[in-house]
Amino acid sequence: MKSKTRLTGRVIFKGDSGYESARKNWDPHTDKYPKVFVFAQRTQDVANAIKWARENNVPIRPRSGRHSLEVNLSQVNSGIVIDVSNMKKIKLNKKQGTVIVQTGNRVGRIAKTLAKQGFIAPFGDSPSVGIGGITLGGGIGPLQRSIGLISDNLLEVEMVNAKGKVIRANKKCNADLLWASRGGGGGNFGVYTKYKFKVHRAPAEATVYRITWPWNQFEKVLKAWQKWAPFVNDKLGSELSIGPKKGGNVTMEGLFLGSKSEAIRLLKPVTCVGTPTNKLIRLLPYTEAVNFLLPPDPVLTQRTSNQFSSGFARKPFPNKAIKSMRKFLENVEGGAGFFFLNWGGAVSRVLPRSTAFYWRKAKFYVEWNSSWINQAEAAKNIAIVRNTRRKLDPFIVGSYINVPDQGIKNSGPVYYGANYPRLRRIKAKYDPGNVFQNPQSITPARK
Ligand SMILES: Cc1cc2nc3c(=O)[nH]c(=O)nc-3n(C[C@H](O)[C@H](O)[C@H](O)COP(=O)(O)OP(=O)(O)OC[C@H]3O[C@@H](n4cnc5c(N)ncnc54)[C@H](O)[C@@H]3O)c2cc1C
Repeated sequence: MKSKTRLTGRVIFKGDSGYESARKNWDPHTDKYPKVFVFAQRTQDVANAIKWARENNVPIRPRSGRHSLEVNLSQVNSGIVIDVSNMKKIKLNKKQGTVIVQTGNRVGRIAKTLAKQGFIAPFGDSPSVGIGGITLGGGIGPLQRSIGLISDNLLEVEMVNAKGKVIRANKKCNADLLWASRGGGGGNFGVYTKYKFKVHRAPAEATVYRITWPWNQFEKVLKAWQKWAPFVNDKLGSELSIGPKKGGNVTMEGLFLGSKSEAIRLLKPVTCVGTPTNKLIRLLPYTEAVNFLLPPDPVLTQRTSNQFSSGFARKPFPNKAIKSMRKFLENVEGGAGFFFLNWGGAVSRVLPRSTAFYWRKAKFYVEWNSSWINQAEAAKNIAIVRNTRRKLDPFIVGSYINVPDQGIKNSGPVYYGANYPRLRRIKAKYDPGNVFQNPQSITPARK
């Protein structure tokens, strides 16, 4: 290919050694056959890659942690993947209470590095998720009721735009881009290379818990959890996972930024339900609490593909919704199931229009997934997830852009609610030519 600009960084074309491992995402369903991967070592490599792509008319996909949950987001056939995962600096400024991270870091590395130095960085349920992607979509997890979403703590970004120009956004400069970067989703405005976050002092210790019930008690547990989890003390984060009928169980886990005795008391309305088969409630040094909640989850060993869908609930699921859940759980297998996370606290104190992340007023977040290993099973599993969405539609609002479902039509307002028109205007300002796009990306507003 002839062009003015040369690709720099670690460049791997189709056919080069390293190509196969370069195209392994967390979910094999999302692996594609791009023309070239550029593993940027510095911001200039990103800028060169964008210019090269435009000179050669090659579609671009930014990538950080490889955890995208839908197809054609961080890889596309015949495209260029601009991968920032080799850019991993972390610079903590204890005095200012801020940290600057390059976007190639994974969430677990940041949370663990900061915990050792006495600070909290928010995280979700897997250490290997990239800070690059999770931040842009919002970033939910068990600490959100105490310190907000990951993106609520975002103060400044460095991004390379469609012209290959490095720009910064903070409260004073390009404030609209900062607003859009706090929940507007990855792959829309440019390739982000650095984030600056506010950090919080960590407590010396925290209480973690993991309670398990037999699968056939899921209805009872869910009903109790829904009444309790959105209203419990803000320092308590709770994730409820319900596996498939075949081989699955019910697990509630999370953390409380406080004492064990208080945690036991707060958890009672759910732990007293049914007959838990395992009940672990433990006070740990904060560093170990982070390790407990973020066990290893390597990218390259995944064999299972998934279809996910997600939403937010403003009221407890009524019996009709729980009946649809049961039908789904009776028909899926393997790593499939339902996952709930409690809302409220710091997440809900931010107004829906204050950042691009709109779904602030929910009571809980819900996602469900069906999984398969054999490609011949893909269509069936995708269909069951999407049919279940139709059945749950009356009981949920919106959907989480980081857990997308390309079965959703006219998805902008579903992911972004009333923030979508503003996101479209910001898209038109920063990427008028729609250089950064994917199947559900933001369409630039018309002039
Ligand atoms: C096992 C697992 C657990 C998860 N747990 C949670 C959780 O607890 N909480 C939560 O909020 N989410 C969770 N997610 C969802 C996760 O937030 C999204 O999949 C997220 O987009 C992944 O980011 P990534 O950088 O790892 O992925 P990638 O595949 O690298 O990218 C995902 C998307 O972001 C874009 N993107 C990535 N980096 C950049 C960049 N530097 N500049 C511009 N765009 C970029 C990509 O183009 C793509 O559209 C989980 C996902 C998995 C697979």
